[in-house]
Amino acid sequence: MCATRYDLHIHSSYSDGYAEISEIAQRANTLHLEVIGIADHFWPSVGSQRGGKNIIENRRTDIETARSDYPKIVILDGAEVDIQSNGSLAPVAGGLDQFDIIIGSFHWVSDSTTWASALSKALQKPKFQILGHWDGYLSSYREEDGRIVAQAIADTGIAIELNGRYMSEHTEFLELAKDYGCVFSLGSDSHSLETVGQLDYQKKLASNLELELAEPSTLLSLKG
Ligand SMILES: [Zn+2]
Ligand SMILES: [Zn+2]
Repeated sequence: MCATRYDLHIHSSYSDGYAEISEIAQRANTLHLEVIGIADHFWPSVGSQRGGKNIIENRRTDIETARSDYPKIVILDGAEVDIQSNGSLAPVAGGLDQFDIIIGSFHWVSDSTTWASALSKALQKPKFQILGHWDGYLSSYREEDGRIVAQAIADTGIAIELNGRYMSEHTEFLELAKDYGCVFSLGSDSHSLETVGQLDYQKKLASNLELELAEPSTLLSLKG
């Protein structure tokens, strides 16, 4: 499989996205994507007021329908879950194990030291396979914190996301993480149909910095 024909971070109308899962799958089919990750937020994670078991089960039914309509596309049942300041992930009704893939993301502003400290705790026994928009809410960045984080991420095999909605400000961290052996993933963070699979800039960044893009199947296998 070509490592770049995927988009692992797409929001549907089950959280704060506008597109239905069937529309997302249709769009992915048009774009010849091989793997997509529907990664919704569920309350109490920021980004959705809804998070009951019913919602999650209805959503899963839609994902299963899309899978049978587009058997060539691997459609992952994912979630984007808040990393909290104590390093734990926000709860999801029914637990995290029900999902194929979890994106752990900061949705609160933190400075460099707080970020490294929360992330170090989160990475001790990581419950997520992708670190979403790693600097999207970072108010400062220090290389010494970057080193702590890069080492911890490299030890776990988790991918650092190159996100389509949040441009990485501190690309020096990406290079540092590469030197520590970290891998990277692509996610548009789409909230509308038009941006699904829109990852040209991120692919170029990966190629310019010679970042290794993870295969989705490798990330799935991290789930213990
Ligand atoms: Zn997010
Ligand atoms: Zn998102």
